[in-house]
Amino acid sequence: MIRINENYLKLQASYLFSDIAGRVSAFQQAHPDREIIKLGIGDVTRALPRACIKAFHRAADEMAEDSTFRGYGPEQGYPFLREKIVAHDFNARGADISPDEIFVSDGAKCDTGNIQEIFATDIKIAIPDPVYPVYVDTNVMAGRTGEFDNGRYKNILYMECTRENNFIPDLPSEPADLIYMCFPNNPTGTTITKDRLQTWVDFAHESKAIILYDAAYEAFIRDDSLPRSIYEVEGAREVAIEFRSFSKTAGFTGTRCAYTVVPKDCAGYDSNGEKHMLHSLWHRRHATKFNTVSYPIQRAAEAIYSEEGKAQVRELADYYLNNAKIIRKEMTAAGFECVGGDNSPYIWIYGKRDSWEFFDMLLQKAGVVCTPGAGFGKCGEGYIRISAFNSLENVQKAMENVKRET
Ligand code: PLP
Repeated sequence: MIRINENYLKLQASYLFSDIAGRVSAFQQAHPDREIIKLGIGDVTRALPRACIKAFHRAADEMAEDSTFRGYGPEQGYPFLREKIVAHDFNARGADISPDEIFVSDGAKCDTGNIQEIFATDIKIAIPDPVYPVYVDTNVMAGRTGEFDNGRYKNILYMECTRENNFIPDLPSEPADLIYMCFPNNPTGTTITKDRLQTWVDFAHESKAIILYDAAYEAFIRDDSLPRSIYEVEGAREVAIEFRSFSKTAGFTGTRCAYTVVPKDCAGYDSNGEKHMLHSLWHRRHATKFNTVSYPIQRAAEAIYSEEGKAQVRELADYYLNNAKIIRKEMTAAGFECVGGDNSPYIWIYGKRDSWEFFDMLLQKAGVVCTPGAGFGKCGEGYIRISAFNSLENVQKAMENVKRET
């Protein structure tokens, strides 16, 4: 009789997006003449930049000739892409990262979910609340948590992000080994300053902890004083692993390309107290379980760093940021307290009522679909997340409805 991994039984079924779909379809059936505008899910809506498409086509043509065809690529990704990443995303901002510390992959979801495999199961993990659910669920699957009780898993150190701390977690009051952070944040849309991030890096040094820094929304930062990478902070090379994605940066959600940075200075310890470099462990894991991103997609990603690509990618993020600005302005004018939306595509809105009540009110009165904050953790109760990923026309229409009806 085959036995299963019983940790999977601890997982809470995620009804969030199916509940949303159910309520939207019930509303549509009851009001077939009402238009519905979806500002709920975090998927982009605009086409890939022209520079990426051109590179993608050229590379596809290369695959059609024996003389230029490519099979399996280098384990960590093609050097042409890793060199550009390092030059533009790190060295240009004074961050000391080298191409052999970059691991190109098919998504930050997989990487943020898989990275925990290289750490022991009995370590203490610190995770923000509210949070991108992948960090929590993958640790549950690995057996690092206890049962789910009263809205939370036992044995996770939840770092509460509330109005009181401006949605930036306080340093843990208990020891933590692995700390998850995400800035610009999903779902709250908040950012962190360099000074504040420095306190976390210092904390990680003192407690021999590792920070997992998810910077999937870095492309939306417009305030140049904010760090785009944790490696802009002193001492981060020894204590931080960073995740980046081309999904939101350049519309690659369906195309799939991302990367993880594991500096060669990051170490962990075995049960005898002996030091081991995390780069070697992640390299082993990556090379064993992953077989690289396809050549045409790596060429498409490389094109983001050309002069043409840089301008197009900036324009793409600016388009969504303009939507975010409109949403924040109108929701504030409608009397709601908002954060995010200035260096982020997400706006986190306090509704002075239950998250689902807030959701239903926006749907029924304004025909706008959002995401109830409670779906991101206990501290999300009372909030909704509105996403700027839609057309300007739809965002304007949605906000006119809110203005008129709420
Ligand atoms: N990290 C965060 C915080 C996200 O919100 C998302 C996607 O919504 C991802 C990672 C996933 O990125 P990718 O498309 O590269 O898997």
